[in-house]
Amino acid sequence: MTVSTSTPATLYPLGDGIGSVSLVQSVGDDKMIVNAARVSFGGDNGAPLNSRDEKLIRYLLTHHHGSPFEHNLITFKVVCPIFVDRQAVRHRVGVSKNEVSGRYVELQERNFTPPAFRKQAPSNRQASVEDDGTLDQEAASRIWAEAWRNAFGAYQELLRLGVTREQARGVLPLSLYTESYYTFNIRSLLHFLELRDHEGAQYETRLFARAMAELAEPLFPVTFREWMSLKKSH
Ligand SMILES: Cc1cc2nc3c(=O)[nH]c(=O)nc-3n(C[C@H](O)[C@H](O)[C@H](O)COP(=O)(O)OP(=O)(O)OC[C@H]3O[C@@H](n4cnc5c(N)ncnc54)[C@H](O)[C@@H]3O)c2cc1C
Repeated sequence: MTVSTSTPATLYPLGDGIGSVSLVQSVGDDKMIVNAARVSFGGDNGAPLNSRDEKLIRYLLTHHHGSPFEHNLITFKVVCPIFVDRQAVRHRVGVSKNEVSGRYVELQERNFTPPAFRKQAPSNRQASVEDDGTLDQEAASRIWAEAWRNAFGAYQELLRLGVTREQARGVLPLSLYTESYYTFNIRSLLHFLELRDHEGAQYETRLFARAMAELAEPLFPVTFREWMSLKKSH
């Protein structure tokens, strides 16, 4: 088993130097998954991972034997816009979360601004498509910036008037950054990635999911390799 709590590796999925995913700690590895599965017939062992173990991981993934993938953890610190966080927090099983409290602290002036605005997809009511050149990007940026300035200005004004933080935050938009620790096990992480690194997911959320996958993959290389290969074969 490996336990790691080294200096966090950090990725910036939105490219704005604010939105980030840091690997905070991890426990477990591919061998622990194999041992959890083999304990059912007394076959767990301390030997290095071998090709039979790798085949077993593929077998477990293929046949949805999920519980051996739960004896580990990966903790990320995630700094993301509230609209991304609202999607992440829907993942209830095998996921632990603690988030900054806007009741305790004055929220920082950190706003996500899309580098490019997208259009509503014509066929899928949830999805977006890239601008085909017909969107007034400049006007969209201006409106976004004004809305943010007004909202954050109102928040600061309310605080100056003496309004409590827990009420004043009510005027802030979904583009405000929030930060949380998220702890997954590899089973819950793969389920999250299945749904959130998917073409049906929101682009920004997808970027965060990919960053988590990039940080987790070296910790469970065989599991990720076999999971990817099974995904491609479906
Ligand atoms: C592209 C996309 C669009 C979405 N759009 C919307 C939307 O418009 N509105 C909206 O509200 N949500 C939406 N969601 C959220 C979605 O419905 C799920 O809540 C979210 O993806 C979490 O998935 P999950 O329930 O499988 O994960 P988890 O909550 O982590 O659950 C994992 C698994 O445990 C089992 N499970 C968990 N809870 C229960 C339970 N109560 N009963 C039985 N089995 C359970 C299920 O097998 C589930 O797959 C969307 C998700 C995606 C990916």
